[in-house]
Amino acid sequence: LVMICSIGELLVDVIATEEGDLKDVRLFEKHPGGAPANVAVGIARLGFDSCLVSKVGDDPFGEFLVESLRRENVKTDGIVKDEEKHTGIVFVQLTGVSPSFILYDGVAYFNLRREDINWELINSSRIVHFGSVILARSPSRETVLDVIKRVKTIVSFDVNLRLDLWKNRGEDMLRTIEEAIKLADIVKASEEEVDYLEDNGIEVEGKLITAITMGSKGAKLNGIQVPGYKVNPVDTTGAGDAFTAALLVGIMKVREITNENLEKIGKFANLVAALSTLKRGAWSVPKVEELLKYKEAREILRL
Ligand code: ATP
Repeated sequence: LVMICSIGELLVDVIATEEGDLKDVRLFEKHPGGAPANVAVGIARLGFDSCLVSKVGDDPFGEFLVESLRRENVKTDGIVKDEEKHTGIVFVQLTGVSPSFILYDGVAYFNLRREDINWELINSSRIVHFGSVILARSPSRETVLDVIKRVKTIVSFDVNLRLDLWKNRGEDMLRTIEEAIKLADIVKASEEEVDYLEDNGIEVEGKLITAITMGSKGAKLNGIQVPGYKVNPVDTTGAGDAFTAALLVGIMKVREITNENLEKIGKFANLVAALSTLKRGAWSVPKVEELLKYKEAREILRL
């Protein structure tokens, strides 16, 4: 069976359930999150073997995350327990002009070390996927870059820029993202991220696939524009991660990367991402049974 492995942050998303600044908000809800974890869940829902390599604390939130992933059929043997650091956590306000968040440092996933890596899982995966958040702190940054350099299979990178995590280290951020892009066969970025990086002299290009997401307008795969699937979104959180999950599954399904296949993959990824916006939360990729109702999905999932 084809396995796709994600590596990176696994954290508790503590999301405000009332409007207002995080300073004033009193009510929150706890959800499992972290972009690579969201991608791993999306891949499992799309019917592929999926694993996550990460680190949690020896605490109730760590148990919550591992159990939540297990319930989603994501393999958790790559998730190790930190004896000292607590499970990662982020407080988020999603409503308002721009989403704001407080992401805690000194947590377990940022303490991912070389000895924590389950090489058996990594080596039995056809794609290894990562993003930039885990690269913002040490030692997780050195660990993940080391893993990615040693991987003999397809590498996928989601730019996932979070400027707030690199305060006063703008140059370090740019050089790190540049290095990650160079290591990747598949690069996914949003249109805004591409503009930002190109303005700073960084070319956003994967050796095999460059996927640029454009919100409701859809996406561009290696320059081929694929229009978005029309929906009335309820919550776009995790749409990018849903897109990435479907993109990776689509790439595994096709025999070769032709323009025709890229268009099929793009339509499939746009469909999956659009449908994910109809449900709340970051784990909102529809299951295979539901997707088979759509022609765009059958064209990929039946391959
Ligand atoms: P995120 O915002 O989740 O961090 P991102 O920046 O990649 O990720 P977008 O470009 O907004 O996210 O969206 C990713 C994909 O989701 C798009 O390429 C598209 O397929 C789908 N999508 C997002 N918003 C909409 C929408 N309003 N209508 C239809 N599809 C959408």
